[in-house]
Amino acid sequence: MTSAPLVIIGSGISGLFVALEARKLGPVIVLTKGSIDDCNTRWAQGGIAAAVGPLDSPEQHLADTIAAGDGLVDEAAARVLCAEAPARIRDLVDYGVAFDSLGGEVALGREAAHSHSRILHAGGDRTGAEIETALTAAVADPSITVLDHTLATRLLVERGRIKGVEALALQTGDVETYETSNVLLATGGAGRMFTYTTNPDVATGDGIALGLDAGAEIADIEFYQFHPTALHLSDAPPFLISEAVRGEGAVLRNPVGEAFMSRYHPLKDLAPRDVVARAIVTEMRSGGWDSVLLDCTGLKSVDLAARFPAIYAFCKGVGIDMRSNPIPVAPAAHYLMGGVRTDVWGRTTVEGLYACGEVACTGVHGANRLASNSLMETVVFGKRVVEHIESGERGAAAPSPRAVTVKPPPGVAPSHTAVQDMMWRCAGIERDGAGLREGIATVASWENAKPLATRASHECRQMAVLAALMLNAALERTESRGGHYRNDFPDRDDQHWKRQQVWKREP
Ligand SMILES: Cc1cc2nc3c(=O)[nH]c(=O)nc-3n(C[C@H](O)[C@H](O)[C@H](O)COP(=O)(O)OP(=O)(O)OC[C@H]3O[C@@H](n4cnc5c(N)ncnc54)[C@H](O)[C@@H]3O)c2cc1C
Repeated sequence: MTSAPLVIIGSGISGLFVALEARKLGPVIVLTKGSIDDCNTRWAQGGIAAAVGPLDSPEQHLADTIAAGDGLVDEAAARVLCAEAPARIRDLVDYGVAFDSLGGEVALGREAAHSHSRILHAGGDRTGAEIETALTAAVADPSITVLDHTLATRLLVERGRIKGVEALALQTGDVETYETSNVLLATGGAGRMFTYTTNPDVATGDGIALGLDAGAEIADIEFYQFHPTALHLSDAPPFLISEAVRGEGAVLRNPVGEAFMSRYHPLKDLAPRDVVARAIVTEMRSGGWDSVLLDCTGLKSVDLAARFPAIYAFCKGVGIDMRSNPIPVAPAAHYLMGGVRTDVWGRTTVEGLYACGEVACTGVHGANRLASNSLMETVVFGKRVVEHIESGERGAAAPSPRAVTVKPPPGVAPSHTAVQDMMWRCAGIERDGAGLREGIATVASWENAKPLATRASHECRQMAVLAALMLNAALERTESRGGHYRNDFPDRDDQHWKRQQVWKREP
């Protein structure tokens, strides 16, 4: 048994940033199930949002965040996000992140639904990789121990208070217990719940199942953002082709060459992400195609290799020169808005258990995330987690009065593919009652078993729990809003549904 004042699960931006901030409190242990840089963070392209431009303000950033969230943003949390963002950029710079500059000033990109240019980026479209590299170098510090290939399998709770973490050392098969009074869930997202995703294979949503099991509340879990344009080739992963490419003028065409977006939305190719994703699905269905084309060949005035070095290099590597050939694209699962419910100090409803980053639901995204707010959310609320622990104040987040009790399914999914196929079909970009019920019945049919001592088996258990939560929440919400679209309830219904759904495990 090892003990430390803080144990962090995950080594993306959330886990590493909190580890650095928490060094002053004593030794910190970081558990991570792959190598240190195996995380969503490394793949982030566009950048990180902060109102640092001369004509911008946190109030305008807040207004854009609230508009994107489709009626469900927690305004108090979003206000914290937007107000504290500029100071967190300074922290990242202090930790060695070199944001791109232009003529001696920080370079600010513009993304859809932002009223100002406020996206800081690094290495062009390699923002996440630059952040992860800088933070990885900074955590080489005697007070931080990073244990890679170590899978957290259970949170230990006694009388409603966190007591430690049980983990499996994947290279030896040993089960270890880490004793602590503070645990941070920084386990990231859950794109791997779906067949097509921009997320790496660690993104199986483990932290949500671990949090639910420990007694924490889960919120907004039906809201999932599908990115419209991921590379679609049978022999290459669905690499993200950033919205910024359409921002520069690239056009979506169906395989017979028609620029179809004008039939779906007045903003055409720059319509909101969910609208573009559904338009692509409709085109693919109507023509029996498995992808559409993103055509950059008309962008003669943009140096695509310089503006999008990562995208250009990846496409080139799979035989597509985006300057002269359209890129085959299709939608893919991208970002989970919901997660383990926290207050503005990152506290969950279990004393001593904190959550931050994509695994958490602070409420800042509501039903739909404003682009580039997610990286910022990790550091704003990560800083607050450390401030709260440092304050010595005990106590958990106030429980939600509307939390509904659920019984997690007893089964283990037969394979990752079984979950992904079912979720893509039953809880994907377009949902309906019949499909969601079919998904719930499938999860219920999975064999009741104890996970084996392997990463795959534990993930299959956690994915079954998360699938049941997502399917039930999506079935309950009989409307369409943000990242949740129901074919059988296509309209937003504020009268019944301008509210969050919150879930907790039955005692
Ligand atoms: C392709 C792509 C592009 C993106 N672009 C942007 C962008 O431009 N701007 C933006 O704001 N956001 C972007 N995002 C979203 C953003 O990158 C993520 O939301 C953010 O990086 C999440 O950080 P995190 O630290 O919470 O999680 P992650 O970076 O995913 O880290 C999670 C960590 O937890 C570990 N882990 C998980 N389960 C366990 C377990 N059971 N035991 C031990 N360790 C575990 C993982 O191995 C990993 O180290 C993008 C995402 C993707 C995939």
